[in-house]
Amino acid sequence: MQKWYLYSSMKRFLSANVLYPVSSPVIPDGILVLDGNGMVLDVIDPRINLESATALKSAGVVEYFDGILVPGFINAHCHLELSHLRGKISEGTGLPGFLKAVSQLRSDEDEIIIEAMKAADQEMSMQGIVGVGDISNRAVSLSVKQKSAIKYHTFVEVFDLHPDYAVERFEEAVRIQAAFRDNGLSASVVPHAPYTVSERLLQLIGLHAEVAGDVWSMHHYETASEHDMFVSGTGELVSFLKGTGRYDEWMAKGVSSLNYTLPYLPANSPLLLVHNTYAGEADFNHAQALSNKVWWCLCPAANLYIEKRLPAVMEMVARNLKIVLGTDSLSSNIHLSILEEMKLLTGYFPSLSFEEILASATLQPTHFFGWDNMLGSFTVGKKPGVNLLFEEPFPQWHESVYRLTPTTQVRKIV
Ligand SMILES: [Zn+2]
Repeated sequence: MQKWYLYSSMKRFLSANVLYPVSSPVIPDGILVLDGNGMVLDVIDPRINLESATALKSAGVVEYFDGILVPGFINAHCHLELSHLRGKISEGTGLPGFLKAVSQLRSDEDEIIIEAMKAADQEMSMQGIVGVGDISNRAVSLSVKQKSAIKYHTFVEVFDLHPDYAVERFEEAVRIQAAFRDNGLSASVVPHAPYTVSERLLQLIGLHAEVAGDVWSMHHYETASEHDMFVSGTGELVSFLKGTGRYDEWMAKGVSSLNYTLPYLPANSPLLLVHNTYAGEADFNHAQALSNKVWWCLCPAANLYIEKRLPAVMEMVARNLKIVLGTDSLSSNIHLSILEEMKLLTGYFPSLSFEEILASATLQPTHFFGWDNMLGSFTVGKKPGVNLLFEEPFPQWHESVYRLTPTTQVRKIV
């Protein structure tokens, strides 16, 4: 028995029906030992260390919960800046209709936007989210992120398909990136999507990332007409973009958007492809040819909201692609909850295991963001946050067969 356990009032000893460290197998009745700052000191498996577990329980220091303890969640794709658009855009518009609505609605007073962002940040924290990859077009979210308990990486997003504006847009984005970095927040400059950046702008962003070794993110195949636009220069998306008056000179590339964009990918930057609603075999093959550099972000609730369709999830799983989860923004989702995204995937793809979905919400995204040493698993030395997943009544535990249900809830414990 290690006696220090008993003499520390600052430490916490958390236990539940099951502990999911994620980086190691599940532990029925496991005990998680944390220091006063939430850092993992030990993970006790009673099947291996019965003496310690029994001593702690009989000392009355163990906080026991009905349910499952899992590490804090990571939301790999969000747009805090669009939080004030909650409930303002109708469902099922398709992507071109959605983009049009966002551009018409997004200009609100900064005060209104900041209040909505604060509420969204709070909502994510309450939902057990501890890390967020956030798309930003401005620096308006800076103060919210600085004060937040959540760890943010900001993707400063650039778009303009007209090459004459490439330098101006790029320099503006670099200034926004510097504002975040100067205030101790990580940030990288990224393209919005292959169809909203000129080749010149893509080059500038790619070279910039090459220098900084930044993580890249890009919206990808959220609509079928992205493919038509690149391959043949036709379809609803290119018609919408031409209608805005600045994209008249679009020329079909004769290849898919991913095929066109990949040559600009910096050699040392991990790439996050977001949505992938219409991505298929050819795209998976291209990505796999890039080996370990591509992560695939699923935002299933937003996909159903905008396009009423889900990506080829099981094909992605069968190929062992690195899958992470995102909520997208409150303009295309009714909540900012990774648990709700997990539940949705469980409902639509019953053969997905809880372990697979949990890894996509915790450990997998830490490899992309470079947060491996602090978040994503109950590993000694990390400060991953602790969530309780529960439902009432909590079902009888059968080894390795836990499944999320529509009534599963999350409670942030640490
Ligand atoms: Zn998005």
